[in-house]
Amino acid sequence: MASTAAISSVDAFGRSIRDLRISVTDRCNFRCVYCMPREIFGPGYAFVPRDELLQLEEIVRIAKVFAACGVKKVRITGGEPMIRRNLEHLIEMIASIEGIDDISMTTNASYLSKGRAVALKDAGLKRITVSLDALDEETFRTVCDVEFPVSRVLEGIENARQAGFENIKINAVIKRGLNEHSVLPLARYFHGTGSILRFIEYMDVGSTNNWKLDEVVSARELVAMINKEMPIEPVSPNYRGEVAKRWRYVDDGGEVGFITSVTESFCGDCSRVRLSAVGQIYTCLFATEGFDIRDPLRAGASDQDLLEIVQTLWGKREDRYSELRGQIPVDVFSDAKVEMSHIGG
Ligand code: SAM
Ligand code: SF4
Ligand code: SF4
Repeated sequence: MASTAAISSVDAFGRSIRDLRISVTDRCNFRCVYCMPREIFGPGYAFVPRDELLQLEEIVRIAKVFAACGVKKVRITGGEPMIRRNLEHLIEMIASIEGIDDISMTTNASYLSKGRAVALKDAGLKRITVSLDALDEETFRTVCDVEFPVSRVLEGIENARQAGFENIKINAVIKRGLNEHSVLPLARYFHGTGSILRFIEYMDVGSTNNWKLDEVVSARELVAMINKEMPIEPVSPNYRGEVAKRWRYVDDGGEVGFITSVTESFCGDCSRVRLSAVGQIYTCLFATEGFDIRDPLRAGASDQDLLEIVQTLWGKREDRYSELRGQIPVDVFSDAKVEMSHIGG
């Protein structure tokens, strides 16, 4: 795409477009109960056929269009992104796009060997977030619903650290009755390590996890649980629109974060757009519909055409699902929300 200064794109509520999440696959080797429950994503589930996936060059072309609209940060996600072939090459291409100054990835770390961690670093990946919801084998197996040792995830984190990734973030989703007993062991384990543990409130994303409000452990409860044993205090955000609320251990043991998607919405600053593995653009994590950009791209649309498509779409954006959650009858959003494994977290 010809180099153009980024054109500022704002939506119907004046929010800019800054942050692009790219899902590179809808497949995963885990079956986390809150994301890809085995009853639905078991044998017979229709994953996207490979020829329907965006090719790497197509992803890069779309990312360039987003960069021209003001996107500065890209996060690679999935499904499990490390399953995607030639991922490092994709990262290298995205890292070289003018205007993109941060590229990160969220992974379950099951493929984060020493060699891959170094290759990702060499490709230009700046930051890694690893998802880990428990430290004991039994709970970990129950949450992820696979036979996979926790020690290998911890090894993956260490491999990333040794490859030079700093301030690795650890995402832990806490669901009542499933793993709230993991909160303190996780906090103790990562305290003082330089890795930043972030607790994510269990969300009603997608339609297959059978979400119930009373299964959400609120950030307020999580803060109280940790504070009782390891005193923490709030810290101001790094920048406007930061998703995780930052807290620090009073004893200088580092930071811990809380993502309050359910109990305290942050739609007002939401600058995130998502691209699915098949080329659907979603302007909200809880969207019921995406906008297809793959067909126009494959039909020969010019860069300018693609830019106009994105700007028109973003200009009309009125999403604020989390703000409205609870005010709208449940059946309005009933069973059509896009699955997390299609658009990433
Ligand atoms: N497979 C990778 C991983 O797990 O890190 C990347 C994709 S995963 C969909 C991205 C993030 O979404 C993970 O941190 C996961 O824990 C989170 N997630 C998935 N379903 C969720 C839910 N229902 N509520 C809150 N977070 C969820
Ligand atoms: Fe896979 Fe990540 Fe979803 Fe777990 S959260 S099933 S690791 S995509
Ligand atoms: Fe953004 Fe939608 Fe989440 Fe609100 S609910 S913060 S608009 S993704």
